[in-house]
Amino acid sequence: MISAVMPTYGRWDVAVDRGEGPYLWATDGRKFLDFTSGIGVTGLGHCHPHLVGAVTDQAKRLWHTSNLFRIPGQERLAQRLVDSTFADTVFFGNSGAEACELALKIARKYQSETGHPERWRIVACEGSFHGRTLATLAAAGNEAYLKGFGPAMDGFDHVAFGNLNEMRAAIGKETAAIFVEPIQGEGGVRAPPVGYLKGLREIADEFGLLLVYDEVQCGMGRTGKLFAHEWEEVPPDVMAIAKALGGGFPIGACLATERAATGMVAGTHGSTFGGNPLAVAAGNAVLDVMLAPGFLQRVDTMSKLLWGRLEALVRSYPRLFAEPRGSGLLLGIRCIVPAADFVSKLRQNGVLALTAGENVLRILPPLIVGEGEIDEALTVMHKVAAEWPT
Ligand SMILES: *Cc1c(COP(=O)(O)O)cnc(C)c1O
Repeated sequence: MISAVMPTYGRWDVAVDRGEGPYLWATDGRKFLDFTSGIGVTGLGHCHPHLVGAVTDQAKRLWHTSNLFRIPGQERLAQRLVDSTFADTVFFGNSGAEACELALKIARKYQSETGHPERWRIVACEGSFHGRTLATLAAAGNEAYLKGFGPAMDGFDHVAFGNLNEMRAAIGKETAAIFVEPIQGEGGVRAPPVGYLKGLREIADEFGLLLVYDEVQCGMGRTGKLFAHEWEEVPPDVMAIAKALGGGFPIGACLATERAATGMVAGTHGSTFGGNPLAVAAGNAVLDVMLAPGFLQRVDTMSKLLWGRLEALVRSYPRLFAEPRGSGLLLGIRCIVPAADFVSKLRQNGVLALTAGENVLRILPPLIVGEGEIDEALTVMHKVAAEWPT
């Protein structure tokens, strides 16, 4: 008999009860060090006091209206994102997939509004992940996720991630935009070669395309900058964000320059829940913490520390691990042994981690992680590695 909850997930045998900072407790009393962060969502750890305060205060005042009203918290969050990024304008939705969908819509609309309705195709990358709606599945082109849901939506071309020659060759008369994750998360925690984003920017500008980033996973402080592309100082025209934006409250956003958002006038897009007072209270509280002086610097410091420890682990067990990967606190280890088995052993020893494509063990610690917790995780990783059957 089918379970009451539609069985679309392979779930762990952990029934969650409560969380505090980097720790999570199960209903049976087990305590875990959570280096999954709700898949990159609880960037400030579980139940961060400032977020709890902001959301409870807002819950007592007003939860939801609709976007027929002006929502002061939404205006404030949009302004703060504009002030902190390349963007001039922000649309709020509820998830990463929705943010990506809008980014794709904006790309088509821009071309149509500026005299190129024939430009409607998007070039995206192999190994990417953009969500589970029909358009975002087609954008990523992952056969496993598309199977049985076909035919895939038309309008997407795919090239190898990190390869500028392939990208250039894929641009045609009908191309509207380039759509990439500055660091691939689900696809295997893959950072592109240095200079890749700059090359994409040049191609986009040369051919009159929009450059669209999906920073749903790599954004919001994860790499030690507010957004991953800031490391290369190559701004996009449009960017999708979500995951850590609400610190655990569902909210996503699509950011755009004024030029790219040409045509996004009243009536062109909408969302019932998007940017409601409760969601933006969470978003503003997250920014309060992340934009405070020293926060991102600390993320950078901790990520370098963790990277060093992962490198040492990989070196110690060349039979088990191939290489450390990623950037900031979006880290992984490409494994030789099955990554999923290693993750499951870690879980049995109280440390929660994830997998990603290419047999990668993925770790997404909360951004508030400290050296003590990094040591704790690494001690367990060494133990599991040392006990691995030969
Ligand atoms: C998680 C993710 C998405 C999809 O976000 P949802 O909130 O699950 O819809 C899109 N892009 C990237 C890069 C992601 O990591």
